[in-house]
Amino acid sequence: NCVAYTNHTVMSEALETWPQDLIQKLLPRVWEIMCEINRRWCEYLVKNFGNDQRVGANLIIRDGSVHMANLCLAACFKVNGVSSLHGDILKNELFKDIYSLRPERFTYVTNGIDHRRWLAQINPRLHGLVCDLLGGDEYLTKPEELIRLRPFADDAGVRERMNEIKRLNKADFARFAVKNDGFALNTYAIMDVQVKRLHEYKRQLLCAMLITHLQQQLHDDPNMDFLPCTFVFGAKAAAGYKTAKRIIELLCSLQADIAADPLCRDKLQVYFMQNYRVSAAEALMPAAQVSEQISTAGKEASGTGNMKLMLNGAVTIGTLDGANVEMYQHLGDENMFLFGLHADEVESLRARGYDPKAVSDADPAIHNIMTRWSRGFADGKNYSDLVSQLLFGGDQYMLLADFDSYLKCHQRLYTAISDPGELARLALVNVAESGVFAADRAVREYARDIWRIDA
Ligand SMILES: *Cc1c(COP(=O)(O)O)cnc(C)c1O
Repeated sequence: NCVAYTNHTVMSEALETWPQDLIQKLLPRVWEIMCEINRRWCEYLVKNFGNDQRVGANLIIRDGSVHMANLCLAACFKVNGVSSLHGDILKNELFKDIYSLRPERFTYVTNGIDHRRWLAQINPRLHGLVCDLLGGDEYLTKPEELIRLRPFADDAGVRERMNEIKRLNKADFARFAVKNDGFALNTYAIMDVQVKRLHEYKRQLLCAMLITHLQQQLHDDPNMDFLPCTFVFGAKAAAGYKTAKRIIELLCSLQADIAADPLCRDKLQVYFMQNYRVSAAEALMPAAQVSEQISTAGKEASGTGNMKLMLNGAVTIGTLDGANVEMYQHLGDENMFLFGLHADEVESLRARGYDPKAVSDADPAIHNIMTRWSRGFADGKNYSDLVSQLLFGGDQYMLLADFDSYLKCHQRLYTAISDPGELARLALVNVAESGVFAADRAVREYARDIWRIDA
């Protein structure tokens, strides 16, 4: 009655197990208590499931390991996900056995971010505009007030101020880029960002595919209509995660290759920031114009980078995943750019049998990207290992399945924002609708729905 469980991801790191002998040795008393909880839990499971594989699957102690998530399910009076979709996935997939026994314990609280830090403190220019338009800084304690900005999205004068703020913020970020990496940012280009931990499910490689395709297009037709853009990546890989480190290497090769390509000059740029961290995020968010939230549907529990970028007026291109789903409920097709398979479609395509090689063979754009990566870049490095993983290793995160939809969505987005008035309108609507993602709201929901604290 005093312990609640918040699950933060459906990836394997949430389903952590510990060797039984280690716990026995280091935490002998805790081990005794775990054994007693497991004994009672096992009785409860047998009573409800009989002689069924669901008993073994949900045991806390099994085959010499302690299953921490199962301990949480047994012991906690509430189990919550961190977005609406993630809450549903816990109920219907990850924890469906236990949900069937005690549905009243399961809920969700959508994550939030502190708008004092992620707007007022890091983006004083936009904070100033918000205060001017709302007639004061009351939004600092009442983030839902931001919605009153919505009508100003149609005001030409306000739109111009929004674009001027982005221009100045990009100039500031350009100074950061020089200091952090000696990088010369093209401040005239759209700043299109994907900043988050490096993980295959987050699909930095999908964005890399798009960039290679754009470079190819510039080669095929150097005079094509092309809205100049800079793709900014910030990401760290876990120490032992080899594929993640290879993806960083690929992004750096792309950066160098494109920087040395005369046909990309003043049009296409890639910037991989070193040492992505909160202080770097604080420098970047105010300048960002496009937010890449392109995880394989069903894999991103919530995301919070998506919220920080929205709050700073970036336009989201993304999948229906995590808190993007709720973002879309507030923004609609007019103000957010969705693509790709939905979570249930990802599962059904996999069940039907998904052949990434066949997708590549049928799509010349994908085929060209794979060939380019296999052949290698100006720095002499090639990435045939990553290509093999995609084409012959099952493409676990469905990059090839989503590429065409992603490409078309990105084109639709860039056509829309090639009009500066529309770019500013989108930015203002995003700021206006972001109040629901304030941490204040999330904290209140935990107090009310989980801890039953009267505020
Ligand atoms: C917000 C933040 C994240 C989380 O980003 P997601 O896109 O939600 O994964 C990661 N790293 C840093 C430094 C952040 O500020």
